[in-house]
Amino acid sequence: MIKGKNAVVTGSTSGIGLGIAEGFAKEGVNLVLNGFGDAAEIEQIRAGLASKYGVKVIYDGADMSQHEQIEAMMHHAAEQLGGVDILVNNAGIQFVSPVEEFPVDKWNAIIAINLTSAFHTTRIAVPYMKSKGWGRIINIASAHALVASPFKSAYVASKHGIMGFTKTVALEVAEHGVTCNAICPGYVLTPLVEKQIPDTAKARGITEEQVKRDVLLAAQPTKQFVTVEQVAGTAVFLCSDSAASITGTNISVEGGWTAH
Ligand code: NAD
Repeated sequence: MIKGKNAVVTGSTSGIGLGIAEGFAKEGVNLVLNGFGDAAEIEQIRAGLASKYGVKVIYDGADMSQHEQIEAMMHHAAEQLGGVDILVNNAGIQFVSPVEEFPVDKWNAIIAINLTSAFHTTRIAVPYMKSKGWGRIINIASAHALVASPFKSAYVASKHGIMGFTKTVALEVAEHGVTCNAICPGYVLTPLVEKQIPDTAKARGITEEQVKRDVLLAAQPTKQFVTVEQVAGTAVFLCSDSAASITGTNISVEGGWTAH
């Protein structure tokens, strides 16, 4: 049903975004990959997805903190692929600090990339979706869109913010065949999370295995990391006919975290 649709997945050179991009490519969806990284590695990913799944894959390195670059990426995507049918707002960064010491530039960057970029991609994508009477907007939020953890004020604020944005956009586009939802993952072992492990181990004087089980997975009852494939499968489901009446809500994929 989604074969031949066109998707933009922000932050898709790594981690969850890359998993979602591959999940869509498998279903025959053309793609715009976005994100930072080594140019040769990104080209290998782009060409690999295109040849493995027989879909069109474009790379656009737009910086999600710069609205002119986001606008250019969205219009370019629509011109090259013939519209934007699926938008996944996934690019995100993290920084951990007590609120009174939180660097102002880090706060601004987190709000810009995790929250404001979704406003810029969505406002450009919606007219393309309305013109076809079909669209799917999927915001990769977090369990931190629903509950908080200390020292993550900017991240938690950005993720709670994207939940409100999700509900508002869903109401505005509901009569146009367009849905807007958030996926709220728990901990997924991606570079964003892996980077935190050695420092946390050092700071707490414990092993990296202890950090995984007793710190990262402390609130995740399954004691298992969520996989990128599970998040990607949820995104593909949200694009199916069965999900056409699911809008303005969130799907938690977090091993029971927010059941506490
Ligand atoms: P990651 O670090 O593996 O990937 C982040 C992606 O975003 C990369 O492709 C990176 O290049 C890109 N990116 C970062 N800044 C950018 C910018 N300014 N412009 C364009 N691209 C940029 O991280 P991940 O864990 O895959 O996280 C992806 C999303 O999932 C984020 O929104 C994150 O908050 C959310 N999330 C992650 C977890 C987790 O445990 N990993 C849990 C819940 C939610």
